[in-house]
This record gives sequence, structure tokens and C-alpha cells, in this order.
Amino acid sequence: MKEVVKGFRKIVYLSFPPEVSGRPVVCNLTRLFDLSFNLLKADISPRHEGTMTLELTGLEEDFHKGIGYLKENGVRITPVAHKIFRNEESCIHCGICTAMCPTDALILEASDRTILFDVEKCSACGMCTRVCPVKAMTLDLDDNK
Ligand code: SF4
Ligand code: SF4
Repeated sequence: MKEVVKGFRKIVYLSFPPEVSGRPVVCNLTRLFDLSFNLLKADISPRHEGTMTLELTGLEEDFHKGIGYLKENGVRITPVAHKIFRNEESCIHCGICTAMCPTDALILEASDRTILFDVEKCSACGMCTRVCPVKAMTLDLDDNK
């Protein structure tokens, strides 16, 4: 029998309108869709628009069902990959950011001493944007278009 691997993993950025902020929609992802979540960043307060960066893990099929459920409940969703950018012309491959990056999204490629950026691993923590000497990394979490 084919083994089912729950290896799908994606980091998403969520915006909650005030009327959704107090509801347990994220907890329901586990209960209803068997998804695990790792809260990477949150700014939630009652009666105000809230935001959350979540790492979701589970079956890809369940991930899409869970995202559909969040949307049905008024949550706006953006893949974090659409929020972080590296200006490839500005980056001088100094490597400072690799020491700060908690998810290994920025790593040294030993063969040519360049710094690789894997946006799929990025949790949008923003650390690299603070340390980059040439401001090559930018993070846009101000809106959720
Ligand atoms: S700190 Fe900035 S310039 Fe240096 S490797 Fe990282 S992104 Fe490139
Ligand atoms: S924002 Fe920068 S430091 Fe943070 S996880 Fe993404 S690439 Fe790494």
C-alpha cells in the first residue's frame, strides 16, 4: 500500500478583519483538516485587523482545503514568497544575512561563495532587512493584496 507522506509545508501570511480576529479559525485547521501550524509571527488584538505569519504542515490536499476554509471565514491569505524580495543587483553576497536567518532561507553556496536565497523557506521575520548593508532585502507586510 502506498504510504501517505504529510510533507507539504508552506508559510503563509494572514490578515484577519476585526470581526474574525476573535474566532478560533486557525485552531480549527488542526481539528478540521489535520494541519499542524507553527506560529512565526502574530499581531492580533480584539476589534482590530490582525496579522499572522504561519507555517502550515500536512497533506497538500488538506492544506488547500484549510486555505479555502480560512478564505470562507473572511481571512485574507498571501504566500510569504510574495512579500519578501531580494534585489539581485544590489546584493554584494557579503553573507551577513546568513548569520541572522533563522530558517536557512539565506545560505552560502560553497562552490562559488555566493549567497543563495530560497524564498520558500523564508518566514518573513525581517531580520535580514535590518542587517543588510546595501538594503537588498525588502519585506512588504503592510498590506495583503
Ligand atoms: S546581507 Fe544583503 S548584501 Fe549581504 S548577502 Fe545578504 S542580501 Fe546580500
Ligand atoms: S526575512 Fe530574511 S532572515 Fe527572515 S527568514 Fe526570510 S530570508 Fe531569513
